[in-house]
Amino acid sequence: MKRAPSVLASVPIVLDELPLRIDRDLVLRYQGYKTSLDVPTADVLALFEEALALGERLMAPQVVYRAVGVTDRGADRIEAGGERLHIPQIGRLWGPIEAIGAGICTVGDAIEARVRELFDAREFPLAVMLDSVGSAAAESLAEYANDLLCQAAIPERLKVTNRISPGYAGWDVAEQERLFRLCPGAPIGVGLNSACFMSPGKSISWLVGIGPEARVDHYFTQCRRCWMRDCAYRRVPAASTVRAG
Ligand code: SF4
Repeated sequence: MKRAPSVLASVPIVLDELPLRIDRDLVLRYQGYKTSLDVPTADVLALFEEALALGERLMAPQVVYRAVGVTDRGADRIEAGGERLHIPQIGRLWGPIEAIGAGICTVGDAIEARVRELFDAREFPLAVMLDSVGSAAAESLAEYANDLLCQAAIPERLKVTNRISPGYAGWDVAEQERLFRLCPGAPIGVGLNSACFMSPGKSISWLVGIGPEARVDHYFTQCRRCWMRDCAYRRVPAASTVRAG
């Protein structure tokens, strides 16, 4: 990455050259394996390693991010940048926030293109595994962006919440359009169709809350796999990381 993001960046900033590592456990979960219950066979693991190597070569992680001051908020509502977002229980989940950070991340379209080629060639097991690798890469990237924002907020004495996305936890996917108006995907080549599906498909849009009293970790302990080893604000030991190197 060329520079650290500013958590209160008011114009969209693009982050690239991100040292991302794909979360292996997540790939296997997408394949239906439950950690500590299911043990993949040697054949599955060989396929997994092949798909992982392919995915790491093909992915091109990019993030676009912009922060907007909150003008009003309620139990289930945030208003910012002329947009009204209806998010169930967000007042309780995030507590007092002063700004929101809207972000879009993608690992590009090369993985999907290769998956299509593999399906056309009837190489179904590798195609399906590579598709899971692409999904896990996008998820790892979103988590990494969340970590970067938390890190960037510390010198500004601000806190950053866990991310949420349209279409999850009761937030209507139709509000994807509002999120894109707050932070356009165009700078990283991510578009939105009329059904609110993003293209490339291996992309994730998300929102975080920002403020000195923001409530962090509302569904996940962010520090658990954050790479920032010497962070004086770490709340729990790191279990793993999605940062390479
Ligand atoms: S260790 Fe925790 S507090 Fe520190 S930057 Fe990472 S997520 Fe934030």
